[in-house]
Amino acid sequence: MKNVGFIGWRGIVGSVLLQRMIEEGDLNYINPIFFTTSQYGKLAPNYGQNQKILQNAFDFDYLKELDIIISCHGSKYTDCVYYKLREIGWLGYWIDSSSSLRMKEDSIIILDPVNRQHIDISLNKGIKTFIGSNCTVSLMLMALAGLFNENLIEWISIATYQAASGAGANNMRELLLQMGELYSQISYELQNSSDNILLIEKKVSDFMHSGKVSTKFFDVILAGSLIPWIDKKLDNGQSREEYKWQYETNKILNSINYMIPIDGLCVRIGSLRCHSQAFTIKLKKNISINDIEKILTIHNNWVKIIPNERESTIQSLTPASVTGTLNIPIGRLRKLNIGLKYLSAFTVGDQLLWGAAEPLRRMLSILI
Ligand code: NAP
Repeated sequence: MKNVGFIGWRGIVGSVLLQRMIEEGDLNYINPIFFTTSQYGKLAPNYGQNQKILQNAFDFDYLKELDIIISCHGSKYTDCVYYKLREIGWLGYWIDSSSSLRMKEDSIIILDPVNRQHIDISLNKGIKTFIGSNCTVSLMLMALAGLFNENLIEWISIATYQAASGAGANNMRELLLQMGELYSQISYELQNSSDNILLIEKKVSDFMHSGKVSTKFFDVILAGSLIPWIDKKLDNGQSREEYKWQYETNKILNSINYMIPIDGLCVRIGSLRCHSQAFTIKLKKNISINDIEKILTIHNNWVKIIPNERESTIQSLTPASVTGTLNIPIGRLRKLNIGLKYLSAFTVGDQLLWGAAEPLRRMLSILI
């Protein structure tokens, strides 16, 4: 059995990865070895493997004996370890959730329902570095891959509604804490339905501006608000999160001769683990909504068309209905007033599953 080293398995992405591997029985086919940057010597989780103790994630002598390393730790760890490991001659497979190696020439961004053929060709060529894409990119591609495949997309403009989990475990906790803090200001008044709603709102708004809300991780309040900025600013005014759509998508699709323009605004909202995205798509030709729905549906087993009706939309096209599932619903499909080649669409996906852990799990299965 292959020796597979797990780095970053304690984090939010790593935990979801292990959960999915257990569900799918993947651990029966490998010898897992658990590493840590902070807890070495402590007991490893027990999946019947030989190695019972957590290993030091900077122990190069041990790392270089592994067949496969799967890292969900972060770019800092990858930058610190990956190049040195390759320099000392390690020839194993590296699978990673962080962005550090995504745009390297000799790495492949993995989303096998979309680019399995490209992955297989790369494996045959001897490529050994496979990186998960940004969460919004994976979720967009899972929803729209049919249209990309048929070469029907001229450009896309996107607005996101991104969950707190995308910023990590501490941010998720902070969002819930903020919700509780707001509620505690007016819990008494809410019991009394005759209390004036504007007085209740004022109490909450005053507290939001009081400087007393927990904002250590988000810097500002997210509960009852939103944050229209994710990650660092680039010279062209985009946030780094917004930059990833176009470059990662085109790399996944292996669009060598033409880069499909994709841009928009990334916004953090108070949902827990599902990202939503609203698309304005310029099609290359005028095709009917019926045909568009067929093209989207046949692409993969997870994408589901939600009819453009109020009831099905509010029941099935929301973070609350999608959370914890691999479903990729897409709805609000209609032609815009702007013209017959302009399509609107809205999709939701669990950003810890298809947006982070699932493509890594599936890549490991391909290698095994
Ligand atoms: P995270 O939750 O912050 O965990 C990363 C590591 O931090 C853990 O594996 C653990 O490593 C250490 N850690 C320190 N204190 C911890 C604590 N109290 N509980 C658990 N772990 C703790 O990071 P993440 O959000 O999973 O992200 C990992 C990488 O995936 C990043 O590069 C991120 O950009 C990328 N990514 C994230 C998402 C997402 O939705 N969050 C989506 C796509 C890609 P040690 O055992 O070594 O201490």
